[in-house]
Amino acid sequence: MKHDILSMSLFELETLIVSLGEPKFRAKQIYSWLLKGVWGERMSNVPGKIIEKLNEVGEIRLPKIARRLDSKLDGTKKYLFELIDGECIESVFMKYEHGNTLCISSQVGCRMGCKFCASTLNGRVRDLTPSEMLGQIIVAQADTGERISNVVMMGIGEPLDNYDNTIKFLRLVSSDEGLNIGLRHISVSTCGIVDKIDALADEGLPITLSISLHAYDDETRGSIMPINKRYGVDELLSACERYFNKTGRRISFEYTLIADKNDTIEGAIALARVLKKYISSTPHVNLIPLNEVKETSLSTSKNVNRFKEKLISLGINATVRRRLGSDINASCGQLRRQSQKENI
Ligand code: SAH
Repeated sequence: MKHDILSMSLFELETLIVSLGEPKFRAKQIYSWLLKGVWGERMSNVPGKIIEKLNEVGEIRLPKIARRLDSKLDGTKKYLFELIDGECIESVFMKYEHGNTLCISSQVGCRMGCKFCASTLNGRVRDLTPSEMLGQIIVAQADTGERISNVVMMGIGEPLDNYDNTIKFLRLVSSDEGLNIGLRHISVSTCGIVDKIDALADEGLPITLSISLHAYDDETRGSIMPINKRYGVDELLSACERYFNKTGRRISFEYTLIADKNDTIEGAIALARVLKKYISSTPHVNLIPLNEVKETSLSTSKNVNRFKEKLISLGINATVRRRLGSDINASCGQLRRQSQKENI
């Protein structure tokens, strides 16, 4: 097995370089080129023979831009990235007042089976390596020429279903010698794998955890999210409270509004009730109007504002997610599917 060089910490790369009979300081030079997305002859201060040696024992898993869609409305850019084995993933670059944000993928496909989601339609192909998660940021930064200060793991895949690689990525991306993106500027979104939420609480990583809740009881949640059959709403929200008590980090809840499914006033009341029952800090609910996926029969809700106002009146902090890149259909999963179909 070849070393996955971009998944290494600087210390690990130094150890490798020394084991190849080369001086340790070369590692730092190579590392800083890699963080700019450069590998090979363009690394002007690194002798060719070291690059050759590294190519023999290792590989560089930087994604290639297969396609890029640019929004004319708000500067959003959607990338289709091709990985070393030809598989494709997506990332979305967004400009916010608080800084540039990249939404990254954590797996090729997904096996969680949520009924409204395009990323899961053909299941999971494989996990991404830490280098492939990092690589999305590096290549987007190099391509836009702009620094990315915030990262959300809300692209294709379930980050906690690829737990070890996600943790390694979080440590790499936030390290001083790496991209140095603060963990407080990184959100990890999960459909609710309870044992992994408990494990994450023990890692000492001050990220923001987002829970894709999308429903207020087991019947409704179970009908759109298969994970709910393994971990029900009560179990999930108890884990959220444990997470908060251990880390002091508030969790935010995502709630996709689907017509005739979870968007009634009674639903808003039930949601407020169940959140208050389990969550001691004021919960924040991020409402997302469903982005319709043509392979599903679900349609978007017309009651978004009504739902939001009801939650607020019940003391729940609720916001509606601003939709960026609407002219390029910037939500994830659909570009990859399109490219798969074109290749058949
Ligand atoms: N697997 C993780 C992260 C990826 S999805 C998770 O489940 O959280 C990122 C967010 O987008 C999740 O809240 C997900 O439920 C939501 N989402 C997926 N498909 C959507 C769609 N068609 N419309 C609106 N939101 C969607």
